[in-house]
Amino acid sequence: MTSLVQNIQQYLQDFTSLFFPNICMACMHDAPMPNAFLCFRCEVTLPRTDFHLHQENTFTDRLWGRMNLHTATAMFLLIKNGLAENIVYNIKYKDATYLATSLGEQYGRVLKKAPLYADIDVVVPVPIHSSKMKTRGYNQSALFGQGIANSLDIPCHENALLKKRKTKSQTKKSRMERLTGVEGEYAVREADLLIGKNVLLVDDVMTTGATIESCALEILKVEGTRISMATIGMKNF
Ligand SMILES: [Zn+2]
Repeated sequence: MTSLVQNIQQYLQDFTSLFFPNICMACMHDAPMPNAFLCFRCEVTLPRTDFHLHQENTFTDRLWGRMNLHTATAMFLLIKNGLAENIVYNIKYKDATYLATSLGEQYGRVLKKAPLYADIDVVVPVPIHSSKMKTRGYNQSALFGQGIANSLDIPCHENALLKKRKTKSQTKKSRMERLTGVEGEYAVREADLLIGKNVLLVDDVMTTGATIESCALEILKVEGTRISMATIGMKNF
């Protein structure tokens, strides 16, 4: 009997360890804390922002004058070659899907206590193109968004937006295309889900803001919508 219990315990341990890496997903060096993705040192020293406490902040400043924005926040500041950059890299390119959802849930708990985010109705992630979905197999922004939605106990509408065409790399774009950015790349697919809603638009990384701005402008065409934003990281130029 004891051995059966031990076997079950071992099985459960093996099963949960599938989700957790054996090195920290930020420093890529130390062992993570038990049942966690990060080591103690990274958990404490990662550059988290306090943007969620300020309606106007470095994130909203970057989008100033470009749209009607309620507020916006990023979980981490991305400093070149910094620890948080590794987290984003692992999520985007190394299949760290559970890390994306887990960070979302963690950040959702932070936002739940922030008055500026108290009346959010739905989470809408920035979509990826169907061809990228085929090759990557997951949308990292949707995983992060689902995590936030879980903690806020609200829906995450992964298909509310549609990415209509593939993004060309900056170098392949014409000068005119570079200037007009990502206009026309996104469309609202499920407008009825968004009418009259306070939307939290979620992306992985905020750099110039062109992508998230383009999505926000499409959502704002739906009657009665209000936009707030949350990303895993914001590039610190
Ligand atoms: Zn670490």
